[in-house]
Amino acid sequence: MANLFGYFSNDIGIDLGTANTLVYLKDRGIVLREPSVVALDTVTRKVRAVGDEAKRMLGRTPGNITAIRPMKDGVIADFDVTEAMLRYFIQKASQSFRAPPRVVIAIPSGITAVEKRAVMDSATHAGARKVITIPEPMAAAIGVGLPIDEPAANMIVDIGGGTTEIAIISLNGIVFSKSIRVAGDELDAAIIGYMKRAYNLLIGERTAEEIKMRIGSAYALDEELSMEVKGRDSVAGLPKTIHITSQEIREALSDTIASIVDAVRTTLERCPPELSADLVDRGFVMAGGGSLIRGIDRLLSDKTGLPVTVADDPLSAVANGTGAVLNDLSWLMQNA
Ligand code: ADP
Ligand code: MG
Repeated sequence: MANLFGYFSNDIGIDLGTANTLVYLKDRGIVLREPSVVALDTVTRKVRAVGDEAKRMLGRTPGNITAIRPMKDGVIADFDVTEAMLRYFIQKASQSFRAPPRVVIAIPSGITAVEKRAVMDSATHAGARKVITIPEPMAAAIGVGLPIDEPAANMIVDIGGGTTEIAIISLNGIVFSKSIRVAGDELDAAIIGYMKRAYNLLIGERTAEEIKMRIGSAYALDEELSMEVKGRDSVAGLPKTIHITSQEIREALSDTIASIVDAVRTTLERCPPELSADLVDRGFVMAGGGSLIRGIDRLLSDKTGLPVTVADDPLSAVANGTGAVLNDLSWLMQNA
């Protein structure tokens, strides 16, 4: 299809997440889904691995390699590394393209103008012909199918790895948004802290994440769960295995989850009254991997009195939103 921007079908959307980067290929859907991790040689600073391969190295690297997450806190920790990562993902996804792609990138709403510029430049260096950024919560709202062009409140709560992004959108614009650096990573950290305090057991981030996914919850479960956890005894120094329950992990996660609840409530308090009135019936939609914590929707519904739904595929919401933007020429014309 030819149009104002030229030949279109090699355009891509990118969800540059703090934990995962996804790439959406126009007319094909999501073609890449990898951790936002880069492994570097500590001496030469050369990139040794990106994505899945680099994540496998986290916590397991010898002295000469370090694995880092350049977007970890929703801000760009290292511009060069972020650029290398973006280049890798863009090139991997656009291998078969004849012409340089046009790229829509969803970026955390908390990043500065300088960081945004850096992301755009990185994408250009990585071979993009044209780069458009879109705030992550906006992409998430589009991705889950909220009618954001209506003059009514559309609210999204996206719990990612490094940040939770909360936004109220009306008439294609963000009326109010809040980004806090409390999300999946903090939940993992809370589990690490708990295991150490309660059992003198030292565990790594990957093990903590696995515990969170397997038995983590925000609300009492109909059937409580349990699992074995392996780590290192901080006193004896030797490997050991212990048995833990979902009740314990819920307690361990409760303070962190309370911070997320607080942020949602604060956002609601700042919402203009007409839009608040809309939310009573419309409620809000949750996206991001953190929305998969068991019972988090129920807890948030209890604490806000609003109906809460979790997106069908919360980990893909932002990428799907960038894909929808690629398909909507008029949206692009207005906002590019
Ligand atoms: P980001 O957009 O910041 O890259 P994602 O939306 O990809 O983040 O979500 C990643 C976070 O979601 C990680 O902290 C991960 O541990 C968490 N997560 C993924 N799946 C689950 C699950 N089933 N239960 C709980 N947390 C999950
Ligand atoms: Mg995200």
